[in-house]
Amino acid sequence: MELLYKSTRGGEKGVTASQAILQGLAKDGGLFVPYEIPKLTLTPEKLAKMSYQETAYEVMKLFLTDFTEEELKHCIKSAYDDKFDTEVIAPLVKVDQSYYLELFHGATIAFKDMALSILPHLMTTAAKKNQITREIVILTATSGDTGKAALAGFADVPGTKIIVFYPKDGVSPIQEKQMVTQKGGNTLVVGIKGNFDDAQSGVKAIFGDRGLEEELREAGDQFSSANSINIGRLVPQIVYYVYTWGKLLENQELTENEPFNVVVPTGNFGNILAAYYAKQMGVPIRKLICASNDNKVLYDFFQTGTYDKNRDFILTSSPSMDILISSNLERLIYRIAGADAEKDVALMHALTKEGRYEITPEMREKLSDFCGYYATEAEAAEIIHQTFADAGYVMDTHTAVAACACKKYQEETKDQTKTVIASTASPYKFTRSVMEAIDREKYGKMGDFELVDQLSALSGVAVPRAIEEIRTAPVRHNTVCEVQDMKQVVKRFLQAE
Ligand SMILES: *Cc1c(COP(=O)(O)O)cnc(C)c1O
Repeated sequence: MELLYKSTRGGEKGVTASQAILQGLAKDGGLFVPYEIPKLTLTPEKLAKMSYQETAYEVMKLFLTDFTEEELKHCIKSAYDDKFDTEVIAPLVKVDQSYYLELFHGATIAFKDMALSILPHLMTTAAKKNQITREIVILTATSGDTGKAALAGFADVPGTKIIVFYPKDGVSPIQEKQMVTQKGGNTLVVGIKGNFDDAQSGVKAIFGDRGLEEELREAGDQFSSANSINIGRLVPQIVYYVYTWGKLLENQELTENEPFNVVVPTGNFGNILAAYYAKQMGVPIRKLICASNDNKVLYDFFQTGTYDKNRDFILTSSPSMDILISSNLERLIYRIAGADAEKDVALMHALTKEGRYEITPEMREKLSDFCGYYATEAEAAEIIHQTFADAGYVMDTHTAVAACACKKYQEETKDQTKTVIASTASPYKFTRSVMEAIDREKYGKMGDFELVDQLSALSGVAVPRAIEEIRTAPVRHNTVCEVQDMKQVVKRFLQAE
């Protein structure tokens, strides 16, 4: 049976998966959602024995129904290969009583690789399928990790170009170095004088610019998105929650009907939405614990039913979560509004105009699977320190926010359900903050790459390839622009071709 997609804002219907992937954002500014969420057809026994790639096929075939078996398997094989430093792709590591789902073993050592190593393959396959001969221009806003993962995925892919905007002063030193050293003739990396929300709004405005779209069309190009608003990002992220269930069963950590909780360090709400979709598919997830840093707009939303971005944007040591407009929340809003596009539009317009909206009590009731917790900078640092002291396990600053939320949730609710913490980045990506959390006196004055070597000595984990590569790599991108000039920068890059 074919599964089709529609826009949360009602303007597009009956869109195939491949078209939705090519387009990224719907023309009315909405996000594509499937007409329904398919159910897993696998038995738990079968799932428990499956590899990551096999699980990926079983999940993705249900969502991307206009891809053939051969196409999907080819995409999966090309994505989840030795770019990952472990055959299991997403290891589940038990530390004390918690399970850390390590999603950072790909090429750029953050969880964005889980989806962005397959998105270019899905997109080029989708282009062929739809007889698109125009060049696809990937336009991406990044809070630090999507940018590099998308660059790595699309660099030198024929028929594509990629432009990445990042907040010039809002990413870690390693994140920035990773991006500005990116090779590939089809890549452009630009720092903006603004924060992630500015970057994301700027990119959305360029998508919505019909004049520019027309110009692009005449030049033989078309835009698409590598942000998590693209359904081609969301679907591959569902896979690892299904896979995790399989591994918990295989390792006899769970009995067949036993549920588990997940804690997800959240920014744009893509990762936790994937967990929610996995639950709808039949994975026995009990609670979805949404972890925020000091930018706790989602925590407040789950507490009060009001989403309010009118507050200071705080730069934290978990920069990939420094976001006040969580785009993917719109997919959840649409769902709890009973798939009512009009209601969704009213709320999203209120968000654009007043910076806030309030959901109804009926809608709130449908959020009972979720709860929100947050961690301050000091709390996140403390849990990095403590977990290393107690168990010798070093986690990154984003994972620390989740670990902290997990602890608060368990203390508050006494819920003893087994809990999986989504571990979204390697500590090597945030070495300075991580090492300072472990021992500020000792490491506070060292250089970035000195800290890398110290982390390796301390944790016994070899320095990842992604870090070795940038130690001495020359800077290839040094464009910085004002937010209002983003469109000009895009035009100039495309005209230079
Ligand atoms: C992107 C990112 C997040 C937030 O994920 P969302 O899907 O945007 O909620 C958390 N941690 C890290 C390390 C990330 O790169």
